[in-house]
Amino acid sequence: MTKRYDVAIVGGGLVGASLACALAPLGLRVALLESVRFSVASQPSYDDRTLALSASSCRILQALEIWPAVAGSATPIREIQVREFDRPGRVLMEPGELDLDRFGHVVEAKVFGAAVMAQIPRWENLDFLCPAAVTKIDAGAELAVIHYTADGRDHRIQASLLVGADGADSFVRQSLDIETEKHDYRQTAIICNITPEQDHRGRAFECFTLTGPFAVMPHVNGRCGLIWCVSTDQAALMMEMPETEFLREAHRRFGNHLGKFLKIGRRSSYPLRLVRALEDVRPGAVILGNAAHAIHPVGAQGFNLGLRDVAVLAELLQDESRKGADANYGNIDLLTRYSEWRKPDQAGTIAYSDGLARIFSNPTRLAAAARTAGILAHAFVPSLRRQLAVRSMGYRGRTPRLAAGEPL
Ligand SMILES: Cc1cc2nc3c(=O)[nH]c(=O)nc-3n(C[C@H](O)[C@H](O)[C@H](O)COP(=O)(O)OP(=O)(O)OC[C@H]3O[C@@H](n4cnc5c(N)ncnc54)[C@H](O)[C@@H]3O)c2cc1C
Repeated sequence: MTKRYDVAIVGGGLVGASLACALAPLGLRVALLESVRFSVASQPSYDDRTLALSASSCRILQALEIWPAVAGSATPIREIQVREFDRPGRVLMEPGELDLDRFGHVVEAKVFGAAVMAQIPRWENLDFLCPAAVTKIDAGAELAVIHYTADGRDHRIQASLLVGADGADSFVRQSLDIETEKHDYRQTAIICNITPEQDHRGRAFECFTLTGPFAVMPHVNGRCGLIWCVSTDQAALMMEMPETEFLREAHRRFGNHLGKFLKIGRRSSYPLRLVRALEDVRPGAVILGNAAHAIHPVGAQGFNLGLRDVAVLAELLQDESRKGADANYGNIDLLTRYSEWRKPDQAGTIAYSDGLARIFSNPTRLAAAARTAGILAHAFVPSLRRQLAVRSMGYRGRTPRLAAGEPL
């Protein structure tokens, strides 16, 4: 017999697994399908990348009981410095301007993955099907049938609500015939850990260059997470560059804010593009996280945005669950409310990161002058700086209960 669930989540990456941890305590019958095991080096979501999580994301993770397992390896962000390579001025943002003592925390994606993977077995009503690659979807308003392969055999399950959290190339999105808008930034992010000579003291640095941002995030054990965006045709060269040369180049770009760069970890690279779904719901189905909006990493917004998708969907499903046997998790009214609620935040965050990525890579003199004027204005006008800090923290639109630190 085909097993039936209230919710089937395709994709057990950062966003899908967080959603599963939000829904399981509500008593919903949940299936989480993930094609790549957490322990496998090629797992695409839980790698060495350092994630800057905003204060509201940390509150969501607290409420989901994921935070205690992450907190010991999380580094608070106590200051953010923004500037442009080789041009005057810098913006210094301090959390006190927002009545906070920190902007958020930096956490390694792998550490986050270990924390959610430890949560999942706690719930009898949550089936984690992994490795399970979803291969076919028969979507329907009443029931979706999800076909997947596991152990070399074909299987299927049914669910009232199908959730696509399967990343930028989402199979679910394609199966639902949802169109996308795409933009190739022709930039590649190279990430690695570096150990600087001096203590980072919780400072995060974002330096804009014409090939994209160069960000240094505070990390554990005196290390920093480096995200260096280069033009895609240079990426292979930068990946193969001998370590000492890479560190020297990185230091030249960054300046002497933390002294010399002494050590470097393994490098990984990510071609950068914007993939934005033009719709996010269908009767009985919804897409979220990177499946709905994969954005440029400038400003560190992607997972924060996906977590807010999770918080809103979980809240609406919790309200629906109060109807008991009459609950209909795939009903289009509920899903339309989700979509309407998420629109301003998603549109604002996409515009913010896409706008920053484009304006800072515009080589014209006029754009350069506008950027310098913008940086100086933000440096000297506290209200502008506060606005920038609020935007970079991802505060847009109505706040879901989890993001306000309340239980579902
Ligand atoms: C260099 C870089 C730095 C970043 N830094 C930050 C940051 O500081 N802060 C921040 O908030 N965000 C950051 N991001 C963005 C963040 O990584 C993404 O927003 C996040 O990974 C999105 O998670 P997701 O679960 O939606 O998608 P993914 O991480 O892509 O996960 C999708 C999952 O679905 C699985 N899957 C795919 N197809 C199938 C299928 N057919 N069947 C079953 N499973 C399937 C995949 O195996 C994968 O595990 C950064 C991104 C990059 C590239």
